[in-house]
Amino acid sequence: AQPLLTIRGLTKHFPLKNGSTVRAVDGVDFEVLKGETLGVVGESGCGKSTTARLLMHLMDPTAGELIFDGRTVGSRDLPLKEFRRQVQMVFQDSYASLNPRLTIEDSIAFGPQVHGVSKKEAIARTHHLMDRVGLAPSRFAERYPHELSGGQRQRINIARALALQPRMVILDEAVSALDKSVEAQVLNLLSDLKREFGLTYVFISHDLGVVHYISDRVMVMYLGQVAEIGPSDSLFAQPAHPYTKALLSSVPSMDPAHRTQRAPLAGDPPNPINPPTGCRFHPRCPQAAAVCAERVPTISDVQLHHHARCLVHEFSSGHPLATADQPALA
Ligand code: SF4
Ligand code: MG
Repeated sequence: AQPLLTIRGLTKHFPLKNGSTVRAVDGVDFEVLKGETLGVVGESGCGKSTTARLLMHLMDPTAGELIFDGRTVGSRDLPLKEFRRQVQMVFQDSYASLNPRLTIEDSIAFGPQVHGVSKKEAIARTHHLMDRVGLAPSRFAERYPHELSGGQRQRINIARALALQPRMVILDEAVSALDKSVEAQVLNLLSDLKREFGLTYVFISHDLGVVHYISDRVMVMYLGQVAEIGPSDSLFAQPAHPYTKALLSSVPSMDPAHRTQRAPLAGDPPNPINPPTGCRFHPRCPQAAAVCAERVPTISDVQLHHHARCLVHEFSSGHPLATADQPALA
Protein backbone atom coordinates (compact mmCIF):
# COMPACT_ATOMS: atom_id res chain seq x y z
CA ALA A 1 0.00 0.00 0.00
CA GLN A 2 1.02 3.62 -0.56
CA PRO A 3 1.69 5.90 2.40
CA LEU A 4 -1.16 8.22 3.31
CA LEU A 5 0.91 10.07 5.90
CA THR A 6 4.71 10.19 5.94
CA ILE A 7 6.36 11.45 9.13
CA ARG A 8 9.96 12.62 8.92
CA GLY A 9 12.18 13.65 11.80
CA LEU A 10 9.25 14.49 14.03
CA THR A 11 10.52 16.11 17.22
CA LYS A 12 8.91 17.84 20.17
CA HIS A 13 11.06 19.21 22.97
CA PHE A 14 9.63 21.08 25.94
CA PRO A 15 12.17 23.35 27.64
CA LEU A 16 11.88 23.44 31.44
CA LYS A 17 12.51 26.46 33.67
CA ASN A 18 15.56 24.78 35.23
CA GLY A 19 17.26 24.61 31.83
CA SER A 20 16.71 20.92 31.08
CA THR A 21 14.58 19.66 28.22
CA VAL A 22 11.80 17.11 28.01
CA ARG A 23 12.45 15.15 24.83
CA ALA A 24 8.88 13.96 24.44
CA VAL A 25 9.26 13.02 20.78
CA ASP A 26 12.79 12.80 19.47
CA GLY A 27 13.31 12.19 15.77
CA VAL A 28 10.48 9.89 14.78
CA ASP A 29 10.15 8.58 11.21
CA PHE A 30 7.33 6.35 10.03
CA GLU A 31 4.58 5.99 7.49
CA VAL A 32 0.89 5.36 7.87
CA LEU A 33 -0.22 3.32 4.88
CA LYS A 34 -3.49 3.90 3.05
CA GLY A 35 -6.27 1.81 4.52
CA GLU A 36 -4.29 0.28 7.36
CA THR A 37 -4.68 0.38 11.12
CA LEU A 38 -1.32 1.27 12.63
CA GLY A 39 -1.20 0.45 16.33
CA VAL A 40 1.07 2.52 18.56
CA VAL A 41 2.18 1.10 21.91
CA GLY A 42 4.58 1.95 24.71
CA GLU A 43 4.59 2.81 28.40
CA SER A 44 3.26 6.17 29.52
CA GLY A 45 5.83 8.83 28.81
CA CYS A 46 7.02 7.12 25.62
CA GLY A 47 5.67 9.96 23.49
CA LYS A 48 2.70 8.25 21.87
CA SER A 49 0.11 10.86 22.86
CA THR A 50 2.42 13.73 21.96
CA THR A 51 3.04 12.05 18.60
CA ALA A 52 -0.73 11.86 18.06
CA ARG A 53 -1.15 15.56 18.80
CA LEU A 54 1.72 16.39 16.47
CA LEU A 55 0.14 14.29 13.72
CA MET A 56 -3.02 16.36 14.13
CA HIS A 57 -0.95 19.54 14.23
CA LEU A 58 -2.63 20.37 17.55
CA MET A 59 0.81 21.67 18.53
CA ASP A 60 3.78 22.83 16.50
CA PRO A 61 6.65 20.36 16.25
CA THR A 62 10.14 21.47 17.27
CA ALA A 63 11.30 19.88 14.02
CA GLY A 64 10.10 17.51 11.34
CA GLU A 65 7.59 17.40 8.55
CA LEU A 66 4.38 15.66 7.65
CA ILE A 67 3.52 14.69 4.09
CA PHE A 68 -0.10 13.79 3.54
CA ASP A 69 -0.90 11.98 0.32
CA GLY A 70 2.12 13.54 -1.36
CA ARG A 71 1.54 17.09 -0.11
CA THR A 72 3.49 18.82 2.66
CA VAL A 73 1.20 19.69 5.56
CA GLY A 74 1.05 23.42 6.17
CA SER A 75 2.30 24.29 2.67
CA ARG A 76 0.30 26.12 0.01
CA ASP A 77 -0.52 22.66 -1.43
CA LEU A 78 -2.13 21.54 1.79
CA PRO A 79 -3.09 24.32 4.23
CA LEU A 80 -3.51 23.33 7.87
CA LYS A 81 -7.26 23.88 7.84
CA GLU A 82 -7.77 21.41 5.01
CA PHE A 83 -5.41 18.88 6.61
CA ARG A 84 -7.23 19.19 9.93
CA ARG A 85 -10.49 18.25 8.27
CA GLN A 86 -8.95 15.16 6.67
CA VAL A 87 -7.44 13.89 9.92
CA GLN A 88 -9.73 13.58 12.91
CA MET A 89 -9.10 12.38 16.44
CA VAL A 90 -11.03 10.48 19.10
CA PHE A 91 -9.74 10.75 22.66
CA GLN A 92 -10.11 8.53 25.72
CA ASP A 93 -12.30 10.87 27.71
CA SER A 94 -15.62 10.73 25.90
CA TYR A 95 -17.17 13.37 28.13
CA ALA A 96 -14.47 16.04 27.93
CA SER A 97 -14.57 16.04 24.11
CA LEU A 98 -18.27 16.97 23.98
CA ASN A 99 -19.74 20.37 24.75
CA PRO A 100 -22.19 19.70 27.62
CA ARG A 101 -24.51 22.51 26.43
CA LEU A 102 -24.95 21.13 22.91
CA THR A 103 -27.40 18.39 21.99
CA ILE A 104 -25.94 15.29 20.38
CA GLU A 105 -27.24 16.41 16.99
CA ASP A 106 -25.72 19.88 17.30
CA SER A 107 -22.41 18.44 18.52
CA ILE A 108 -22.05 16.23 15.45
CA ALA A 109 -23.39 18.81 12.97
CA PHE A 110 -21.18 21.63 14.28
CA GLY A 111 -17.87 20.61 12.65
CA PRO A 112 -19.14 20.29 9.07
CA GLN A 113 -20.81 23.72 9.33
CA VAL A 114 -17.51 25.27 10.46
CA HIS A 115 -16.06 23.80 7.27
CA GLY A 116 -18.73 25.39 5.08
CA VAL A 117 -21.29 22.59 4.83
CA SER A 118 -24.91 23.84 4.83
CA LYS A 119 -26.96 23.21 7.96
CA LYS A 120 -29.36 20.97 6.04
CA GLU A 121 -26.54 18.81 4.70
CA ALA A 122 -24.78 18.74 8.09
CA ILE A 123 -27.96 17.49 9.80
CA ALA A 124 -28.52 14.85 7.10
CA ARG A 125 -24.94 13.61 7.58
CA THR A 126 -25.43 13.64 11.34
CA HIS A 127 -28.55 11.49 11.21
CA HIS A 128 -26.94 9.02 8.84
CA LEU A 129 -23.90 8.71 11.11
CA MET A 130 -26.00 8.38 14.25
CA ASP A 131 -27.73 5.44 12.63
CA ARG A 132 -24.38 3.96 11.63
CA VAL A 133 -22.97 4.15 15.16
CA GLY A 134 -26.14 2.60 16.57
CA LEU A 135 -27.80 5.62 18.18
CA ALA A 136 -31.14 6.25 16.44
CA PRO A 137 -31.59 10.00 15.79
CA SER A 138 -35.26 9.74 16.79
CA ARG A 139 -34.19 8.77 20.29
CA PHE A 140 -30.83 10.51 20.72
CA ALA A 141 -30.68 13.67 18.55
CA GLU A 142 -32.09 16.01 21.21
CA ARG A 143 -30.29 14.47 24.17
CA TYR A 144 -27.31 15.92 26.00
CA PRO A 145 -23.97 14.21 26.68
CA HIS A 146 -24.67 13.69 30.40
CA GLU A 147 -27.74 11.61 29.54
CA LEU A 148 -25.60 9.03 27.74
CA SER A 149 -23.40 6.15 28.92
CA GLY A 150 -19.65 6.25 28.32
CA GLY A 151 -19.99 3.81 25.42
CA GLN A 152 -22.76 5.89 23.83
CA ARG A 153 -20.73 9.06 24.21
CA GLN A 154 -17.77 7.40 22.52
CA ARG A 155 -20.04 6.39 19.62
CA ILE A 156 -21.05 10.06 19.38
CA ASN A 157 -17.39 11.10 19.35
CA ILE A 158 -16.75 8.67 16.52
CA ALA A 159 -19.75 10.02 14.57
CA ARG A 160 -18.53 13.55 15.23
CA ALA A 161 -15.08 12.70 13.84
CA LEU A 162 -16.58 11.06 10.74
CA ALA A 163 -18.98 13.96 10.08
CA LEU A 164 -16.04 15.85 8.59
CA GLN A 165 -15.49 12.99 6.11
CA PRO A 166 -11.85 12.51 7.10
CA ARG A 167 -9.50 10.07 5.42
CA MET A 168 -7.65 9.27 8.61
CA VAL A 169 -8.72 8.95 12.25
CA ILE A 170 -6.34 8.96 15.22
CA LEU A 171 -7.75 7.02 18.15
CA ASP A 172 -5.87 7.84 21.38
CA GLU A 173 -6.89 5.30 24.03
CA ALA A 174 -10.35 5.62 22.48
CA VAL A 175 -11.72 2.42 24.03
CA SER A 176 -9.57 2.34 27.16
CA ALA A 177 -12.22 3.78 29.50
CA LEU A 178 -14.94 1.34 28.40
CA ASP A 179 -16.04 -1.94 29.97
CA LYS A 180 -14.68 -4.99 28.17
CA SER A 181 -18.05 -5.88 26.56
CA VAL A 182 -18.67 -2.32 25.39
CA GLU A 183 -15.07 -2.10 24.24
CA ALA A 184 -15.55 -5.13 21.97
CA GLN A 185 -18.67 -3.56 20.44
CA VAL A 186 -16.91 -0.26 19.77
CA LEU A 187 -13.91 -2.08 18.25
CA ASN A 188 -16.22 -3.95 15.89
CA LEU A 189 -17.97 -0.70 15.02
CA LEU A 190 -14.61 0.91 14.24
CA SER A 191 -13.72 -1.98 11.93
CA ASP A 192 -17.06 -1.72 10.10
CA LEU A 193 -16.77 2.05 9.68
CA LYS A 194 -13.21 1.72 8.42
CA ARG A 195 -14.34 -0.60 5.66
CA GLU A 196 -17.45 1.42 4.79
CA PHE A 197 -15.71 4.80 4.60
CA GLY A 198 -12.27 3.65 3.39
CA LEU A 199 -10.55 5.05 6.47
CA THR A 200 -7.02 4.78 7.77
CA TYR A 201 -6.52 4.48 11.54
CA VAL A 202 -3.72 5.25 13.95
CA PHE A 203 -4.71 3.34 17.07
CA ILE A 204 -2.85 4.33 20.22
CA SER A 205 -3.30 2.13 23.28
CA HIS A 206 -1.54 0.74 26.29
CA ASP A 207 -3.60 -2.47 25.84
CA LEU A 208 -1.50 -4.85 23.78
CA GLY A 209 -4.32 -7.37 23.36
CA VAL A 210 -6.56 -4.76 21.78
CA VAL A 211 -3.73 -3.47 19.59
CA HIS A 212 -2.95 -6.99 18.38
CA TYR A 213 -6.63 -7.53 17.60
CA ILE A 214 -7.21 -4.36 15.60
CA SER A 215 -3.85 -3.47 14.00
CA ASP A 216 -2.34 -4.42 10.66
CA ARG A 217 1.02 -3.03 11.74
CA VAL A 218 2.34 -2.00 15.13
CA MET A 219 4.84 0.65 16.16
CA VAL A 220 6.51 0.37 19.57
CA MET A 221 7.79 3.61 21.07
CA TYR A 222 10.37 4.04 23.81
CA LEU A 223 11.45 7.41 25.23
CA GLY A 224 10.30 9.46 22.28
CA GLN A 225 11.67 7.17 19.59
CA VAL A 226 10.54 4.25 17.46
CA ALA A 227 11.95 1.07 19.01
CA GLU A 228 10.31 -1.38 16.60
CA ILE A 229 7.77 -1.34 13.79
CA GLY A 230 6.37 -4.18 11.74
CA PRO A 231 3.37 -6.26 10.73
CA SER A 232 1.24 -7.02 13.77
CA ASP A 233 1.45 -10.81 13.47
CA SER A 234 5.19 -10.87 12.97
CA LEU A 235 5.85 -8.34 15.73
CA PHE A 236 3.70 -10.18 18.28
CA ALA A 237 4.97 -13.63 17.30
CA GLN A 238 8.63 -12.68 16.91
CA PRO A 239 9.40 -9.41 18.65
CA ALA A 240 12.91 -8.30 17.75
CA HIS A 241 13.63 -5.47 20.17
CA PRO A 242 14.38 -6.44 23.79
CA TYR A 243 11.95 -3.73 24.89
CA THR A 244 9.12 -5.19 22.82
CA LYS A 245 9.93 -8.62 24.25
CA ALA A 246 9.75 -7.22 27.78
CA LEU A 247 6.54 -5.36 27.04
CA LEU A 248 4.87 -8.48 25.62
CA SER A 249 6.03 -10.73 28.43
CA SER A 250 4.74 -8.29 31.04
CA VAL A 251 1.19 -8.87 29.79
CA PRO A 252 -0.57 -11.31 32.10
CA SER A 253 -1.17 -14.50 30.18
CA MET A 254 -4.64 -16.06 30.23
CA ASP A 255 -2.97 -19.44 29.96
CA PRO A 256 -1.96 -20.68 33.45
CA ALA A 257 0.85 -22.76 31.94
CA HIS A 258 2.56 -19.56 30.84
CA ARG A 259 2.01 -17.47 33.94
CA THR A 260 5.43 -18.23 35.32
CA GLN A 261 7.04 -16.77 32.19
CA ARG A 262 5.93 -13.29 33.12
CA ALA A 263 8.91 -10.98 33.27
CA PRO A 264 7.80 -7.50 34.30
CA LEU A 265 9.90 -4.64 33.01
CA ALA A 266 12.80 -4.01 35.32
CA GLY A 267 14.58 -0.78 36.14
CA ASP A 268 13.54 2.81 36.43
CA PRO A 269 10.55 3.96 34.45
CA PRO A 270 11.73 5.95 31.45
CA ASN A 271 12.22 9.66 31.95
CA PRO A 272 12.28 11.85 28.84
CA ILE A 273 14.43 14.44 30.65
CA ASN A 274 18.06 13.58 29.94
CA PRO A 275 17.45 10.17 28.37
CA PRO A 276 20.29 7.62 28.69
CA THR A 277 23.27 7.78 26.33
CA GLY A 278 23.68 5.28 23.51
CA CYS A 279 20.65 3.04 23.29
CA ARG A 280 17.98 4.64 25.46
CA PHE A 281 16.83 1.24 26.67
CA HIS A 282 20.28 0.09 27.85
CA PRO A 283 19.78 0.65 31.62
CA ARG A 284 16.82 -1.77 31.53
CA CYS A 285 17.86 -4.10 28.76
CA PRO A 286 18.60 -7.72 29.71
CA GLN A 287 20.74 -8.07 26.55
CA ALA A 288 22.77 -4.86 26.98
CA ALA A 289 26.49 -4.97 26.22
CA ALA A 290 29.05 -2.26 27.02
CA VAL A 291 28.74 -0.76 23.55
CA CYS A 292 25.01 -0.14 24.12
CA ALA A 293 25.77 2.72 26.53
CA GLU A 294 27.87 4.46 23.89
CA ARG A 295 26.53 3.77 20.49
CA VAL A 296 23.15 5.06 19.32
CA PRO A 297 21.41 2.28 17.40
CA THR A 298 19.75 3.12 14.11
CA ILE A 299 16.62 1.47 12.79
CA SER A 300 17.60 -1.66 10.87
CA ASP A 301 15.80 -4.47 9.09
CA VAL A 302 14.71 -7.54 11.00
CA GLN A 303 12.65 -8.99 8.19
CA LEU A 304 10.88 -7.52 5.21
CA HIS A 305 8.82 -4.55 6.49
CA HIS A 306 9.89 -5.26 10.08
CA HIS A 307 12.47 -2.96 11.68
CA ALA A 308 14.02 -2.47 15.11
CA ARG A 309 16.33 0.04 16.74
CA CYS A 310 18.79 -2.31 18.44
CA LEU A 311 22.52 -2.85 17.91
CA VAL A 312 22.06 -6.63 17.82
CA HIS A 313 19.97 -6.29 14.69
CA GLU A 314 22.05 -3.47 13.29
CA PHE A 315 25.18 -5.64 13.47
CA SER A 316 23.56 -8.85 12.28
CA SER A 317 21.98 -7.16 9.28
CA GLY A 318 25.39 -6.53 7.78
CA HIS A 319 26.60 -3.50 9.67
CA PRO A 320 30.32 -2.92 8.98
CA LEU A 321 31.11 -3.29 12.69
CA ALA A 322 30.11 -6.93 12.62
CA THR A 323 33.64 -8.09 11.82
CA ALA A 324 35.98 -10.58 13.49
CA ASP A 325 37.54 -7.72 15.48
CA GLN A 326 34.22 -6.43 16.71
CA PRO A 327 31.82 -9.32 16.69
CA ALA A 328 28.11 -8.83 16.79
CA LEU A 329 26.67 -8.79 20.25
CA ALA A 330 25.83 -12.11 21.80
FE1 SF4 B 1 19.45 -3.76 24.41
FE2 SF4 B 1 21.74 -2.95 23.33
FE3 SF4 B 1 19.67 -3.58 21.76
FE4 SF4 B 1 19.63 -1.39 23.26
S1 SF4 B 1 21.02 -1.81 21.57
S2 SF4 B 1 17.98 -2.82 22.99
S3 SF4 B 1 20.68 -2.05 25.09
S4 SF4 B 1 20.83 -4.98 23.10
MG1 MG C 1 -1.59 8.90 26.67
